[in-house]
Amino acid sequence: MDISVVVPLYNEAESLPELEQWIARVMRDNGFSYEIIFVNDGSTDGSWEVIERLAEANPAVRGVCFRRNYGKSPALNVGFARSEGDVVITMDADLQDSPDEIPELYRMIREEGYDIVSGYKQKRYDPLSKTIPTKLFNATARRVSGIHNLHDFNCGLKAYRSKVVKHIEVYGDMHRYIPYLAKLAGFSRIGEKVVQHQARKYGKTKFGLDRFVNGYLDLITLWFTGKFGGKPMHFFGLVGSLMFLLGLVSTAIVGFTKLYHMHSGHPYTLVTDSPYFYLALTLMLLGAQMFLAGFVGELVARNAPGRNHYEIDSEIKQALKNTGHPHS
Ligand code: UDP
Ligand code: MG
Repeated sequence: MDISVVVPLYNEAESLPELEQWIARVMRDNGFSYEIIFVNDGSTDGSWEVIERLAEANPAVRGVCFRRNYGKSPALNVGFARSEGDVVITMDADLQDSPDEIPELYRMIREEGYDIVSGYKQKRYDPLSKTIPTKLFNATARRVSGIHNLHDFNCGLKAYRSKVVKHIEVYGDMHRYIPYLAKLAGFSRIGEKVVQHQARKYGKTKFGLDRFVNGYLDLITLWFTGKFGGKPMHFFGLVGSLMFLLGLVSTAIVGFTKLYHMHSGHPYTLVTDSPYFYLALTLMLLGAQMFLAGFVGELVARNAPGRNHYEIDSEIKQALKNTGHPHS
């Protein structure tokens, strides 16, 4: 099968028939074999009934129905797991993304060798309260992830080589950083395509301003787990050691000044009068805590089921090479 279109949706009943027709038309016009996987993320507006009706009329329509609302990432995760096409396209259900982009996205994956092509809504039809923080969000994501050529990490319209979606695990709210997840999994050919964007036709957005707070926290999580997930001591141990050392230096300063004052007959002072006393106390305590966090982290990492799981692209095995040549 050429293409799987994965559509996560939460209360988008009005948009669905139009979206399905549009996708089907594009597929027909281009002669693609395809499936559309609607993942209903606990909608309460009758979206599922609409999907059932669409599936009756079009055998290419598949559907998954969550019992409750889990979020966009879990919906994508399940859609990815179900997908059977060589190229997987994700698309929002609200008609903001245009199915007309599909053929070109498909071509870029198949012919230009990209692992991922992300849409870029260069001209957006969203309120200012969203577009301005989004610019900031993307600039930060570019810096942290090191994927410098992406302008729009969170664009719902993306295309993937099937291998990519089968090897990354989208969870929580991580759909914002799928390119980063893919990069961490070793897929480095990440491209971008400017795509058309429409204003939302029906319903309203499902994400509030908290998206930026959560997005920022998730980015830190990904950066940390990507860099130190398998070796937490390298982070906590370093920070802890530095703090502890500074604490030791402060202790020495406190001790020596006290001794110096006693010897040179200066007026009597308490060690607690010195700011270094408090620095020594805090730094050594926190430093030890950091170390402890590092040790606990190592214990957790040592027991992680995937700790020795590596994606191997190719291998040369020559077991027969050294046989049959007896030394004379
Ligand atoms: N969505 C979902 N589960 C949720 C929230 C959103 O499946 O809990 C879907 C939603 O129905 C839409 C897509 O994710 O198809 C993007 O959501 P939305 O259009 O509200 O986001 P925005 O365009 O404002 O970023
Ligand atoms: Mg939208």
